Order: sequence, then structure tokens, then C-alpha cells
Amino acid sequence: MTMAPHQPFQPPTPVDRASLENMFTPAAPSNWTIEDSEELYRIHSWGNPYFSINADGHLTVSPKGDRGGSLDLFDLVESIQRRNLNLPLLIRFSDILQDRIERINACFAKAIARYKYSGVYRGVFPVKCNQQRQLLEDVVRFGKPYQFGLEAGSKPELLIALATLDTPGALLICNGYKDRDYIETAMLGQRLGQQPIIVIEQMAEVELAIAASQNLKIRPVLGVRAKLSTKGSGRWGISAGDRAKFGLTVPEILALVDRLRQEGMLDCLQLLHFHIGSQISAISVVKEALREASRIYVELADLGANMQYLDVGGGLAVDYDGSQTNFYVSKNYSTQNYANDVVAEVQEACRAKGVAVPTLVSESGRAISSHQSVLVFDVLGISDAPSQDNVEVPGDADHLILRELYEIYQNLNSKTVQELYNDALQFKEETISLFNFGYLSLSDRARAERLFWACCRKALSVVRDAEYIPEDIEELHQSMASIYYINLSVFQSMPDAWAIDQLFPILPIHRLNEVPSSRGTLADLTCDSDGKVNQFIDLRDVKHVLELHPLQPGKPYYLGMFLGGAYQEIMGNLHNLFGDTNAVHIHMTPKGYQVEHVVKGDTMTEVLGYVQYDAEDMIENIRRRSEMALHDNHITLEESQLLLQHYEHSLSQYTYLV
Ligand SMILES: *Cc1c(COP(=O)(O)O)cnc(C)c1O
Repeated sequence: MTMAPHQPFQPPTPVDRASLENMFTPAAPSNWTIEDSEELYRIHSWGNPYFSINADGHLTVSPKGDRGGSLDLFDLVESIQRRNLNLPLLIRFSDILQDRIERINACFAKAIARYKYSGVYRGVFPVKCNQQRQLLEDVVRFGKPYQFGLEAGSKPELLIALATLDTPGALLICNGYKDRDYIETAMLGQRLGQQPIIVIEQMAEVELAIAASQNLKIRPVLGVRAKLSTKGSGRWGISAGDRAKFGLTVPEILALVDRLRQEGMLDCLQLLHFHIGSQISAISVVKEALREASRIYVELADLGANMQYLDVGGGLAVDYDGSQTNFYVSKNYSTQNYANDVVAEVQEACRAKGVAVPTLVSESGRAISSHQSVLVFDVLGISDAPSQDNVEVPGDADHLILRELYEIYQNLNSKTVQELYNDALQFKEETISLFNFGYLSLSDRARAERLFWACCRKALSVVRDAEYIPEDIEELHQSMASIYYINLSVFQSMPDAWAIDQLFPILPIHRLNEVPSSRGTLADLTCDSDGKVNQFIDLRDVKHVLELHPLQPGKPYYLGMFLGGAYQEIMGNLHNLFGDTNAVHIHMTPKGYQVEHVVKGDTMTEVLGYVQYDAEDMIENIRRRSEMALHDNHITLEESQLLLQHYEHSLSQYTYLV
């Protein structure tokens, strides 16, 4: 089922019976098709037109979208590993980035034509979404035909933008906290032919900008960020509203106008900016903000400011779960809907007030950079839920609790399940108490636990045909799932999954023509219990276990994480000292593909350096201690040499398991 855009999000029913049933009645292996995988993992919904499945059951990537050319992701990963680059591996597809830039520009061009809007669109890419050098250079290169610019949100990002942007006519929007240095550097950018627009976000910046302008004798182009009273929705709703961190309130904007007028600089004020948060899932919220901002824009023009640009900020969302709803990881509108609304709302406000329409600017980062990267990682092993042993029948001489548990097991059926499952839970607790007080031996405790798990399995199997599934049994689902250990740090590679419950599509990139008969959650390499993934995309709400394949002995099992190209890379951290992953840039050619750049992940020496350890000192330390141990006959010469060899070798290695 695909919901039409604009339809309000339906809260999920507490228990998704359909998926529960699937879980225990997987299609026979021979019946499973790639279409079943496509539907299960919803690839078309979130990945169109870039991701698909081929007849071999491998995930394929079409980096140029609808314009043809695709590659087999599994084969690509194998071939990159033959180049001595190990997993986890981040693959960036520059053609996807190009396609995203072309798409947003095409949508605005179409909207402008449709409404006969007499202005133009000049987008900018917010550097904070992904500061990676090759990526930003690509953004600038692909954006040239559209005079696509950059947005800086800090001093270091300004330095990047000044050095990277070389497109005549492209804007360099300067946001974030500013000091005199920041403002003067930006203004001097004008002398290099850049078009910096300094957006006043705090009252204190007004005087800094006036002083810098007088000092440098440069007439800057200024913007102002408005604190709209339109509340964003979802996670970043607090970015807007009267108490937001950034922006000027309406009284402050009027004070700014007066102050600039006093200094004879009112003509410098040319841009109105707002940003009500990222990942705005509901188009109604976008529209409301546009309406308020457009009204402020025309009033500013009326007050005599030389208004030229309306910058609608970021917020253009990504449909991570493919549900096309206003759920927080989705959006109930298309990029075309968005562009149409921006153009139409602004045009209407200008028409009503008789003001010339502005150049439209958007700072869409997530929508441009999310799709281009794919993270591939391998599964190291699986811990299954307590296994399907034969149920052991207790004898008369056995402890009462064993006999009770066995009786529950025997009497469990769809009518008794709720009551008996709860009894079983209680007996499980009692088992522990009895053991702790010394009334139950370790082996009896083991037998009791086995019986308890047998009850759980039976409980799950009997609800398969039940009309109603009790909530606690639904939860059992999760506790009976396998744990897949992944060669990855969630903190480094998908920090938002840990920090803000962000969902990313995750699925195997091969074996998609085989039934995924296991159910699992993912556990990462860190020794932090938060280093796990147990929330996955679903059509409705979130699912807590992911359909996966059993491992095949001696064969790798690769999973891919998709749509993570915005924010994840820079916000990833070094928890447990797992460093940056290897990354490659892939570019499609008429004959196939080409590996354009290889960015090697951190070595142990590098991550240790971040915490002020010097590899040479560390080796020296171990060498000294080995010599002492050798002297005292605690170690043999061979052992000490082996230790040093391992130690030195590790320092130059990848932080992940090989
Ligand atoms: C973060 C940010 C953006 C980017 O937002 P997206 O939702 O990723 O497009 C744009 N503008 C400003 C001011 C921001 O802070």
C-alpha cells in the first residue's frame, strides 16, 4: 500500500498482525523472489530511481537515475576488497549527487515556468551536511550550470566555501555565529568575485557588520534571519518560534532596519532568511512558514530595504521509510510539490503588495546529499535466541517448578496463551529466586530456563492464527530475535540512529532471491550497549526486528545502510576508538565505472593520535617492558618478538576487524 501524498499520517495499530504472521510463516525458499525482497525492504519506495535488485538477487545501483547505467553493488564491494580496502566501506556515487542537484533545479525551473514567476532560483548547498572535500568540489562542479552556491554555518565552513566556490553568480550565504573576523573575511570575499551574503542572525552582529563595512570601505550584501512564529514540526521544531536559538524577532528586524537606515546602509539589506528546522515532514508546515516569511519580505521591501532574495533555508525532507507520510522519517510531499509551494506562496505575497518577486534561494542539504552514499558492512557472527532443543520431560522426583513449567508448555494454545505465558514469566523469575537462595542447582536452573524458552517459542507459534495478539507476546518477538554482530561502530557511522532514533534503510545487498528466514537486531563492535540497531523502517511506524538470512559457513554476509549521506559522516565519533571507515568515490563511465578517489579510513596510529598517544612512544614502552620481562625470564625472546610484531603491525592497521 502506498499512501497518496498529502494524506495525514495514520498512527499504527498497536500490533501489526500481518508482519507478525509473516515472521513465522516465511514463504518456502523456492517461492521467494526478488520481488518479495523488493516489497519487504521497500526498496522502490525509498530508493527510486537509484536502487533496485537484479536477477542474481544482488542490489544494484543506477547512479544516473532514470538515465541508464547500473552496477551490481555486491560485485563492486568484492572488487574494491580486492584492492585491499576492507569493510566497513563507504561508497559515494558522484553521479547520484549530480542527479540530486539537477533534480532540485529542474523542479524549481518547472515551478517557475508553471507559475510564470519572473524571478529565478539560486540554490546553495549547506556545507554542514557533508564537508568532505571531494563531495563539495563535486557539488560546485555539478552545480555550475545552475549557479548553485554554498552556505557556510561557521568560520571554518566559510573558509571552505571561499576556497571552493568559483562559479560566477553563485551565492555564498554566510550563516551562523559571527565575529569581526568572520564578517570581514566574508566581505573581502567580494573582492575575489564571490557573492557573499552576510545573514544577520543576532542583534550583536549588526554593529559588527556596520563597523566592518566602514573599516573595509566595502558595501556588503546583508541578509536577516527571521525568527518565525511558525513552529517547525518533529525533531527540529524548536529551531523556530520566539525562543529559537537563531534569528531576529520582528521588533529586532525593525530595529535593524532603523539602524541600517541611520548609517545609510539600508540598500545593503537584500535577503530575508528563515530556517524552521531539518526534515520537515509535513508540507502544511512548510507552507505556513512560507506565508509568514513572504509577508515579512514584502513588508521589508515596503520599508525601503533593497530586497532581492528570499532564502527559505533547509527542511526539504528525505523519505527514509518510503511511506510518503508525515511520519518523522518520511515526508508527505515531493520535491516538485515543495518547489511549487515556494514559488506560488512567494509570488502571491509579492503580487498582493505590488513588490517585485525575489530570487529564490533554498539551502537544501539533506535532500541533496543523503542518497549519494552507501555504507556496506559485514556480519561477523550471529547469536541466536535460545535454540530449539528437544523439550525435556521432568520426572516426579524433579523440582516442582520444572513440572509446573512443563505443564504450561503442554497446555499452551491460542486460548490460554495470554494467561499461561504470564505464568511462565512468573516461574522464570521464581527460578532465579530459588537459585539465588540455594534451593535450585545450576543444572536445574538450566533445565528451567530451557523449558521457559520452549514456552516462549510455543507462545509465538500458537498466536500465529489468533485473532488478537497480546502486547507482551508481540514483545517476545524481539527477545526471540537473533543478534547479528556487525563490523561497524554505530557511533561512527550512523550517529543519528543512536542519538535521535533516526531510521535508515538497512538490508542485505545480496541473497535477495533467498528467503530471509531469520529475524535479527544488529549489535556493533563497541562495548557500549547503545551500540545497536533495533529500529528499522516499516510502512507503518517502526519495526523492531529485521528480516535477514542465516549465515552460510565460510561466506561473507554484507549489509548496506542507505540514505546516510547527510550529517552522519561528520557527526560520527571515535567511541571505543573506531575511526573513519574507508571510502571510495565511484563514477559511471560509458564502459562501466571508475574508482575516482580512495580515502583510506583511520589507522590505529591516527585515532590514538587524536587522544595524544604517540605510536613510537608506545612501541618503545612495550619494547622496554619486553626487555625487562626477558631479563627476568618471564618471556622468551620469540614471544617478545611476536608481541612487538603484533603491536607494531596493529598500529598501522584499520580500526575495524579484518
Ligand atoms: C542545517 C541547516 C540547513 C540544512 O538543512 P536540511 O534540512 O539538511 O536541508 C540549512 N540552513 C541552515 C541555516 C541550517 O542550519
